[in-house]
Amino acid sequence: AHSQDADSSIRLTDTDASLARLSAVQKRYLEDPYIKHLVPRSHLQPPRPPLINIGTFVRATAIDDLVFQWLQRSTDLGTRCQIVSLGAGSDTRFWRIATGAHKVALAAYVELDFPEITSKKAMAIRKSRDLSAVLGNPADVTVAHGGTGLHSPTYHLFPADLRLPPADTLGTLLASPSGALLSPALPTLLLFECVLVYMTPTASSALLQWFVDYFSPEGSAVLGSIVYEMFRLQDSFGRVMVENLRARHVSLPGAAPYPDVHSLPGRFLALGFTAARALTLKEIRKSYIPRTELERISQLELIDEIEELDLVLDHYAITWGLFVSPAVAVAWGEW
Ligand code: SAM
Repeated sequence: AHSQDADSSIRLTDTDASLARLSAVQKRYLEDPYIKHLVPRSHLQPPRPPLINIGTFVRATAIDDLVFQWLQRSTDLGTRCQIVSLGAGSDTRFWRIATGAHKVALAAYVELDFPEITSKKAMAIRKSRDLSAVLGNPADVTVAHGGTGLHSPTYHLFPADLRLPPADTLGTLLASPSGALLSPALPTLLLFECVLVYMTPTASSALLQWFVDYFSPEGSAVLGSIVYEMFRLQDSFGRVMVENLRARHVSLPGAAPYPDVHSLPGRFLALGFTAARALTLKEIRKSYIPRTELERISQLELIDEIEELDLVLDHYAITWGLFVSPAVAVAWGEW
């Protein structure tokens, strides 16, 4: 049993994530015309400090790039693809993709989160013309699950507690024999942005395993997964991060098992993924963000905590893995 209070503290982390994104947009690190519609007026706060904005920028840019590569590869191979965002919160990625260059590549975009979060999101979508217009013809958009879900031709929002057995959640929501929403024949990308740390490693593995089992019987399975998370929480700075969250009653049962960046791909490789890689945000900022972008953002705000920046960025990582059947491995290539 999970306590209601502990769960509401976990849900509050979505407000943090959306405020951090809004702040990075207001300060022009990122462009996102949709996030403002998902932050309730009553939650508005002053912009975040530069260090947080830079972290948000590095994280968003890197994940956007991995997702872009996924959509581009699908397009190149003449297939459409599916994206499933677990613990999606107030994320705007669906709207950005559906109005971008790769919109025709998207067969389905599925978001899952606690019902308290999905009902607020469903409400925000219905209240905002900018958000609802992207879903298509209003006649094709339906509210479901007593207001906690929403369906449109491409976008689907579902309430679920991701710690429960996946057969009962994902199985019934996405793969019911009477009409599976996810096709096991299409390349499918899973997004876990800042969510696995709130559940036990056993529960996280069970989620990933469910997808592997759903897709692997297909001779042409292509399953990708991106995890963004804080890690290295055993060192002195990491312990401060954990303490700060504890003070807000957020516990991190998923924090322990990956002490360093080299251990992170193990999460995927242990489940039979074909390949997996991990980079810290510090490494991504140094070696992967285009120089022109780094120069552009260096003009936005004065920052005097440059050493602290590296320390913070060194405690967040992106891990991405690919599970691909031998028959399509060469065509799909590396990621
Ligand atoms: N992925 C979004 C992003 O990056 O902007 C939101 C991140 S927020 C830090 C974590 C989200 O995971 C929250 O919306 C929270 O409700 C959700 N979450 C955490 N544990 C969950 C669970 N057991 N079941 C469903 N959602 C969960």
